[in-house]
Amino acid sequence: MAKMFDLVIKNFFAKKPTRLFPVAPERVAFPLSRGRIVFDEKTCILCSICARRCPADAITVDRAAGKWELDAFRCIICGECVTACPKKSITMSNERRHGSETQVIETFMMEPPKPPAPKQPVVKPATTAEVTPAPIEKSNI
Ligand code: SF4
Ligand code: SF4
Repeated sequence: MAKMFDLVIKNFFAKKPTRLFPVAPERVAFPLSRGRIVFDEKTCILCSICARRCPADAITVDRAAGKWELDAFRCIICGECVTACPKKSITMSNERRHGSETQVIETFMMEPPKPPAPKQPVVKPATTAEVTPAPIEKSNI
């Protein structure tokens, strides 16, 4: 009993392992923690690699409409899209997303990429007409 009393007294004065949220300030995220992905629409080329590599099917890319979409509720923050993007348009932030009761879908609209120009038929360069050399005039010797 005395041992338990000692423990109670010790814990009463010890530093609290938990925080009194939201009264206490929110904990600062560790630099390398995976919080959420951040998309930069200025560099994206709508190649769809991120959507194909996403194991959770959280990214949708519509090239024709110029639309990039993330279903934040499906994202498991694995970071696969971050490493797969050839343009580094997706980065991992250590700031976590706040909870929500409704589905969060981030939609970005961009200029759709122009379709490739039709191939022009190969035109062979015209052969140069044979030029007959002018007769050499014999000078009066
Ligand atoms: S992989 Fe990168 S460039 Fe390609 S669609 Fe995704 S975010 Fe855009
Ligand atoms: S972090 Fe993973 S789950 Fe989330 S969108 Fe990227 S690939 Fe998909």
